Amino acid sequence: MRPPRFATRAVHEGQHPDPRTGAVNVPVWLSTTFKQDGIGNFREGYEYSRTGNPSRRSLEATIAGLEGGAFGSCFASGSAAAAAVADLLRPGDHLLTTIDVYGGTFRLFRDVYAKYGIDFEFLDTADAAEILSQVRAETRMIWIESPTNPLLNIHDIRKLAEGKPEQVLLVVDNTFATPYFQQPLELGAQIVVHSVTKYLGGHSDVVGGAVVTSDPEIHEKIAFYQNAAGGVPSPFDCYLVQRGIKTLPVRMQRHEQNAGRVAAFLAAHSAVKKVYFPGLPDHPGHAIARQQMRGFSGMVSFVIEGGRPAVDRFFERTDLFTLAESLGGVESLSCHPYTMTHGTIPPDEKNRIGITEDLVRLSVGIEDAEDLIAELEAALG
Ligand SMILES: *Cc1c(COP(=O)(O)O)cnc(C)c1O
Repeated sequence: MRPPRFATRAVHEGQHPDPRTGAVNVPVWLSTTFKQDGIGNFREGYEYSRTGNPSRRSLEATIAGLEGGAFGSCFASGSAAAAAVADLLRPGDHLLTTIDVYGGTFRLFRDVYAKYGIDFEFLDTADAAEILSQVRAETRMIWIESPTNPLLNIHDIRKLAEGKPEQVLLVVDNTFATPYFQQPLELGAQIVVHSVTKYLGGHSDVVGGAVVTSDPEIHEKIAFYQNAAGGVPSPFDCYLVQRGIKTLPVRMQRHEQNAGRVAAFLAAHSAVKKVYFPGLPDHPGHAIARQQMRGFSGMVSFVIEGGRPAVDRFFERTDLFTLAESLGGVESLSCHPYTMTHGTIPPDEKNRIGITEDLVRLSVGIEDAEDLIAELEAALG
């Protein structure tokens, strides 16, 4: 039989009925500790819940399977997952990333790990050849997001994977695309990072993170760090994320459909100067996105005509698009990257990379597209 397809695996992978009771859902295993049948004799390898917990193990198997990876490790947040991967670096190592990497990741590199003598370099490009030209003997990691936040730049994952030297690990933060639309390991990346807080959880009610790899040595180090540093998610959080993942395929289809309609509406509107959505043919990353993604996901950014006053008016007039941080939930959200997600970046730097005061980011939810567009029309009118 052909292996089950994505939507089937989202519902079943790593989620088997409980052998004892037949419970269809994976129980929320709240026990911190597990009985030993004699010293060191564990029934299924569970000993203590920081080290391993059945609810977490189940979620780890689900996420790893959907990413096409052999091993998953879940964390209490996307930032904790990123820290676990950054911890693979040693003093003297060099990491290449881009200036528009997630703000919390930027802070983690610059304000936490740089003090250990690791050299983090932030490039202002989404061009694979340009990134590869900066690799040096000390380079151990290339860390990218694709699409990026908030300008939705697209990185050519396969080109980076094929062009990098062996000693360099390619890390892809796949939060914006989700494994439904993009599977970086298949494109040649060694490590995938997720903030499951966003689309995987999908309901804006749980913070979490994950790391996926198919390399047993990398996994061993990540699992060691997970247990040693201890930033693990609670069993209940794992349950919530797993519950969210069951509907990932249907949600992502709707997110993308709605985002496409919103992007087309905005692109045709006279009060909108520019629209960023990888699904639009004039987006600079459109061709690569078509090759490496099965869809363009649900994020749309745009520049309003009329500067900051017009932006403020837009936020006053929107209601379905709730003004809030975060993304990827069923409800539509709007955000002002200049002051919110990218508030800590100096103004000159923001303006230089296109995160200007008149830029608005939308996380397009799964509501009825007609309602979303009607609201945008009224808000821009
Ligand atoms: C939110 C986010 C993170 C950080 O995840 P948290 O769960 O908030 O710690 C990392 N990368 C991307 C792309 C994100 O959107």
